[in-house]
Amino acid sequence: MRERQFEVMNDESAASILRRGVPASPGIRIGRAVIYDPKLNPSAPRTIPAGHVKFQIDLLGRAFVKAAEEIEDLQSKLRESLDDAHAAIFDPHLLFVRDEAFCEQVAERIRTRLQSAQYAVMAVIGELDAQFASIEDEYISSRSTDFRDVGNRICKHLTLIRGESDAAPIPRSEDVILIAHDLTPSDTAQMDNRSIMAFATEVGGRTSHTAILAKALEIPAVVGVGAIIDRIKDGDQVIVDGYEGTLVINPSDAELRRARNRKRKHLIRERDYHKLAALPAETVDGFKVELAANLELASEIDHVKQYGAHGVGLFRTEFLYLDKPKPPSEDEQYEVYLKVVEGLAPAPVVFRTLDVGGDKLFPGSLAHHEKNPFLGLRAIRFCLKHPWVFAAQLRAILRASAAGPVRIMFPMVSTVDEILAAKKILAEAKRDLEREGREFADNVEVGVMVEIPSAALTSDALAPEVDFFSIGTNDLIQYTLAVDRSNEKVNDLYDPFHPAVLRLIRMVVDAAQREGIDVNVCGEMAANPATALLLVGMGVESLSMGAVDVPKIKYFLRHIRLSEARAIAADVRGMRSSTEIREHVQGLTDRFIKRRLARPLDEELVATGTI
Ligand code: PEP
Ligand code: MG
Repeated sequence: MRERQFEVMNDESAASILRRGVPASPGIRIGRAVIYDPKLNPSAPRTIPAGHVKFQIDLLGRAFVKAAEEIEDLQSKLRESLDDAHAAIFDPHLLFVRDEAFCEQVAERIRTRLQSAQYAVMAVIGELDAQFASIEDEYISSRSTDFRDVGNRICKHLTLIRGESDAAPIPRSEDVILIAHDLTPSDTAQMDNRSIMAFATEVGGRTSHTAILAKALEIPAVVGVGAIIDRIKDGDQVIVDGYEGTLVINPSDAELRRARNRKRKHLIRERDYHKLAALPAETVDGFKVELAANLELASEIDHVKQYGAHGVGLFRTEFLYLDKPKPPSEDEQYEVYLKVVEGLAPAPVVFRTLDVGGDKLFPGSLAHHEKNPFLGLRAIRFCLKHPWVFAAQLRAILRASAAGPVRIMFPMVSTVDEILAAKKILAEAKRDLEREGREFADNVEVGVMVEIPSAALTSDALAPEVDFFSIGTNDLIQYTLAVDRSNEKVNDLYDPFHPAVLRLIRMVVDAAQREGIDVNVCGEMAANPATALLLVGMGVESLSMGAVDVPKIKYFLRHIRLSEARAIAADVRGMRSSTEIREHVQGLTDRFIKRRLARPLDEELVATGTI
């Protein structure tokens, strides 16, 4: 991470700060910072510029309403699953969040002391806390936890405003750019891209699930910019550049001009890519690569078609589970799965079964704390330990298969035994559905994700048990190189060009070809032109990636030859260092892009009858 301090002052006379982080989700946005900082430092109040007061008070009103709704919802769930007495535990929370005097006290601090809404909420709570703590009554002094709980809920909604599809967009007097230390994948899944234009976090890696979700929601993002929260105020002007991975605070006029120009150039290029949406991803010498989309949220179905993907190559189903106190029921899942299958048929949908664990933690009763969650009870390991959770999901997927082509794949498999155990539960689910007279397709194919070195190394032993492999390069890189995919401190070691990674991929492709089963790649390596070139050259025939990346990769594949990709993959076979490999592949990729970009796109579109 490098930082540059500018002498140039902008109109607010603050020195501009440029931070380099990790590009997480493409797009450039210029807006005003809203800081998500759950810690309260009483000696350093967070302040806002005077012009930001109305905006902060608008946010405050909505956050109170959202927090009240959330508590009501929690109470009704407790009434359903337990009884009224348990639900009544939250009565004081509700009284407190509906207390107008409390809300007004906070608003007053924003207006008169120019404190950020979040800081003002926690400061008022701190005052109340101190008053109550001095009363010698156990019941009253224990209300302190209630205050804090309500305060935390309000602060969450001040920044991570959930966007129900039927809710009106949050009116914006400014373009909000969220700045946080870290965001969990479920925080990110709750973001509303109508109210949050972009975000930047102090920590995080390129293939963290937070970054993946930002792409899915089309929220430009930069992660891993390093400690910054203490150097920025709510309301400061900021630029987030999700292509190059930079954050600029209080930009100079020259930086604003540069950002606007870059944004314009990217938009023009992306518009060109989009013109190819209806065409196949076919190389110049006639080889068709299948391009599918990765799906995190069912609301993305339209994007899949709009960006020209053929179905879904990886449906990360776990996001359906993460904001719920308990796993969704079979019927709840079925409704969502059916919508996705029906919405995309006849194109196929590959359902990845629950991949909870790692950086995606269950909030509810099944939550568990682990020292090394990425090496713990994650994905298929969790499912085999909780077969009733697994069986409910398999039944829901199977039932959806009656509506269109469906494949099932198990994540994080490391042994043949896991495949056999998972297939046994699947077979039981089928038998039960048959007994109940429920419909499902009898040709649902079963595959595994190859994302752990042990699976890649024994892929020849796994292949006879499955119909397809899907290589999850995000995890394969992390586990092969012992580099945490969500840790910006080792981002430069997270290396898709490492010869060990390429050797494992080659092994998996060879094992699949020998067994005559399909092999595809659904990690981020598929979404980058240079690595996609290598994958195709190594024999991968289908790639799945975030829908937004499909047009770029399609455009690139339509401008290379399969013979070139094969030759490059053969060249790197003998290379020992990833620097050598990266330079070779990236150099040729850049050359191909330049060579082909020189050819007017319209010429090709006319030739193919697209325009
Ligand atoms: C992967 O590991 O490459 C993958 C596609 O799965 P996820 O990113 O969800 O772990
Ligand atoms: Mg994975």
